[in-house]
Amino acid sequence: MSDDLPAGVERHPFDGTDRLATRGDPVYGEPTDGDWRAWNPTRSKLGAMLELEMDTGLEGGDEETVLYLGAASGTTVSHVADFAGPTYAVEFAARPARDLLETAASRPRLFPLLADARKPATYAHVVESNVDAIVQDVATRGQARVALENRRFLADDGRLLLAIKARSEDVTRDPEDVFADVRAELEAEYEILETSRLEQYHADHLGVVARPRS
Ligand code: SAM
Repeated sequence: MSDDLPAGVERHPFDGTDRLATRGDPVYGEPTDGDWRAWNPTRSKLGAMLELEMDTGLEGGDEETVLYLGAASGTTVSHVADFAGPTYAVEFAARPARDLLETAASRPRLFPLLADARKPATYAHVVESNVDAIVQDVATRGQARVALENRRFLADDGRLLLAIKARSEDVTRDPEDVFADVRAELEAEYEILETSRLEQYHADHLGVVARPRS
């Protein structure tokens, strides 16, 4: 656990409550004071991981590069691009990807990619190698495989920040059994540093912080 937030992520009061916030244009109807906007952990697994004080290793700043897998319309990745440097956002569904383009219009550090995260060769010519963090929230079957396939982009001292959605793997199984299987598969390429159930914000999700094995 860590109470260190990345640079560019702060707690600000909204409606009398201190909430995580980043600077930038609002994207999903979140409260803003005109400068800072609230980061809603119930809409964002990474936001939940930060609220739960998981040690994500994110530092923030222009130099930090991020590959974000499963960007949807940009709720979370917009916050990331507002506190980090170059942020490559992979999404394979055309509809959310259109909204993601709009989200990126005011964000010069956000690069949307309409691509399948299971086929990293299709975006390897765009994404720089040795990114500092991979954030993954694909909510699909085969979540470990996606993380393994994208290991190639991650710096040796980088971090995988993964939200595993149990129901996407198998709705009929006990989430704890699903998490154990996904973790075991990850171990081939990653050392798991920390896990936390995100239950307070997202049912049947496990937050994972891992680093690549050398
Ligand atoms: N991370 C988003 C956020 O917090 O703003 C929400 C992501 S949503 C839970 C999961 C997204 O992953 C969906 O938009 C889905 O289309 C996308 N997705 C699922 N499988 C994918 C794949 N193989 N490649 C790229 N995107 C994928």
